Amino acid sequence: MAPDSHDLHHTDHHHPDLHRRGLMFILSSPSGTGKTTIARRLLAEDHAIHPSVSATTRAPRPGEVDGVDYFFVSQQEFDSMAENDEFYEWAEVFGNCYGTPKAHIRAGLKHGKDFLFDIDWQGTQQLYQKDAQDVVRVFLLPPSIEELHRRLSGRGTDSAEVINARMDRARAEISHWDAYDYVVVNEDLDECYEQVKLILAAERLRRKRQTGLIPFVRGLLRTKQG
Ligand code: 5GP
Repeated sequence: MAPDSHDLHHTDHHHPDLHRRGLMFILSSPSGTGKTTIARRLLAEDHAIHPSVSATTRAPRPGEVDGVDYFFVSQQEFDSMAENDEFYEWAEVFGNCYGTPKAHIRAGLKHGKDFLFDIDWQGTQQLYQKDAQDVVRVFLLPPSIEELHRRLSGRGTDSAEVINARMDRARAEISHWDAYDYVVVNEDLDECYEQVKLILAAERLRRKRQTGLIPFVRGLLRTKQG
């Protein structure tokens, strides 16, 4: 990778003591606000952040890889994981169960890995209730209701009824904007992406996440020079 590429590793590992705890970076928005594009860009450019991998009881689709797209588990395995409180949250969707397993995320956080969650406000709330200190909640807003309508109208082939249903869902999601730490208005996709990266960079530098600081600063204070 070229040294001037967008690798955000630079906040990490300056010094062997300066390791940090990872974070859970949540991106929520009504659909049509660019969240998926921004999430994909971040995952492609920043190798310290990883997608959260869910467990599911549904069968793998062609091309899906166990441990990458999902952890594919039997209903029995899923039920026992739920019973043993091994999920941050779980839900039944179209007859299959889906859940966010804690174990690999907990282990990753300890080693300074960050995780990206592309989830709605309900999932955000559940994650926050389980682990407030590692969670960073970012909400993206459309620049105007007209622009959102334009973005949700698709290619002009959907009925007014379908578009109105999308608008209602979007309004319902927007109404939870105040449950987030950061709000970014996506007027321009590139600018919005830059702002999301700034939030991530600043959150990585929070003192409480820089678990190696105490011995590092002690070392600084112990060294007498001049
Ligand atoms: P698919 O089977 O098409 O991959 O996903 C179906 C639905 O399950 C999507 O709406 C997706 O958002 C939802 N889903 C995937 N993983 C999880 C999860 O860990 N928790 C919850 N609550 N929903 C999930």
